[in-house]
Order: sequence, then structure tokens, then C-alpha cells
Amino acid sequence: MRLGFHCSVGKGLKNTIEEAVALKCETIQIFSRSPRAWYRREFDEKELAEFKKSLKEKDIYPLVVHMLYLPNLASCDKKLYKKSVDVLIDELKRCKMLNAQYLVIHPGRYSAGDFETGIKNIISAINFAFTKVKNKTMLLLENLAGGKTDIGWQFEELRRIIDNVKEKNRLGVCLDTCHLFAAGYEISKNSFDKTVNEFDTVVGLKYLKFLHLNDSKNILGSKIDRHTHIGEGEIGLEGFRAVVRHPKIKNLPGILETPRTNLSDDLKNIKKLGDLAK
Ligand SMILES: [Zn+2]
Ligand SMILES: [Zn+2]
Repeated sequence: MRLGFHCSVGKGLKNTIEEAVALKCETIQIFSRSPRAWYRREFDEKELAEFKKSLKEKDIYPLVVHMLYLPNLASCDKKLYKKSVDVLIDELKRCKMLNAQYLVIHPGRYSAGDFETGIKNIISAINFAFTKVKNKTMLLLENLAGGKTDIGWQFEELRRIIDNVKEKNRLGVCLDTCHLFAAGYEISKNSFDKTVNEFDTVVGLKYLKFLHLNDSKNILGSKIDRHTHIGEGEIGLEGFRAVVRHPKIKNLPGILETPRTNLSDDLKNIKKLGDLAK
């Protein structure tokens, strides 16, 4: 399993590489811009070229971009929906510039609207964005924790989105262990295989491309999305052992989105996973 961290881009892409190297990343996830602002700058051409060259030199792949947090592709508010679709299109274009292999998106939440409109909005957004941008970046739907009006926390919802997207070869799934567990899918020595089989039956393992490896502060089925350090949450080391050793999962790349404290604690998280896989 190739492992890495979500790394920051706030201090420039050169700094991102230094951070990734210090954290011993074999794969890396970034935001292409500030995750909490609609405004963005253009990439600096030279900086971009150096970033791509460094990733190659350091043998860091795949490069994954996580879409920022403001857009909501399920929004039933017309203004926010339009803005969100525009960001999706823009992010796909930026992924092309970055040579990113994957763009991870949260499907969305229907908020003040209703589920049916919400899920149809997600599907239309993806279909429309795919007609606007042609690139090799695969869009990955991340499973959510199931809070409030989340869409895409149940495998059936992911399946329905995939079923209705025309260019299925451009679409995949990223499973986040914390979200999975919070949504009520078991991750333990004796139960993880059942969860994998359920995913295979409902969605299909061929769509599963990537993992987010986070322990969960809250109990199974809590629907609360709170990440914690590997082995220190409710999933625990035995749960992660089942994940990193599962024959159908162990060769997927994975990113840690555990709370960042200091370098030595971060390295401990990645080492724990490496040790469990042995
Ligand atoms: Zn996410
Ligand atoms: Zn995640």
C-alpha cells in the first residue's frame, strides 16, 4: 500500500514537496487552492513545472487533489449550485495542469432542499463538467459520514450516482475509513471482509481506487465525522490491520488525514500502518 498525507499548499508548491518528503509520502493529496475561499490565484507556470518534476524525481504518485470545501454539488439553492458546478469544472482544469491522477469530491448535502433534487443535482453536475473538460484525471466520489443531509454515505447512493453518469470510465470511489465507520459499516478483524463484500456487491470493487485512512473519534454508526490518529480511535489498530492486509484492498494507495500535530507524531501514524501491513 502506497501511503502519504494530505499536504499543505499554503506556502507554495515547493514547500509542499518538502513537506511530503519530510513525511515520507509515497503518494500525496493536496488542495489546488485555499479550501475555504471562493477566490483563487492562477498557478505560476514555473512553480507548476518544478512541482511536477519534483514529484517524478521523488517517485511520489498518485497525486490526488481534494476539492475545496465550499462547493456543494447537491445544493438546491440555484446560486450556490451554479457556483459549485463552476468550481468543479475549474478544479478539473487545474487537475489537468497539475497532472493529477484523481480529483476527490464530497458528493454533497441537500441542506434545506430534498434528497431527490440533491442527488439529481450531483449527477447533472458531474455529467455537465465532463462535457466541459476532457482530461485524464479520474473523479472520485468520497463516501461521507452520514451527517444531517449528507448524500453518498450509503453504498447504494454512490451506486446510483455512478449508474447515472455517462462517462463511467472517468469516475471512481475513494473510501474514507472514518466516514465508513461513522456511517455504520464495520471495520474490525472479523467484520471488515463483510463490508468489502457489501461494497463489491452494491458498487463494485473495480470502482474503488483510493483510500483515506483515518481513525474515528466516535463510535460505529455515530454519523459524526471526527478523524483521529491511527489506533487511537474506535476503529483501533486491529481494525486497521484488517484494512491494510485485506487482499482486495492492500494494493490501493492511501492518504492519512489524521490531525496534524508535529512531524514525529505524523510519522508515527504512517509507521503504524506500515507495520500493520507487514
Ligand atoms: Zn474529504
Ligand atoms: Zn477523507
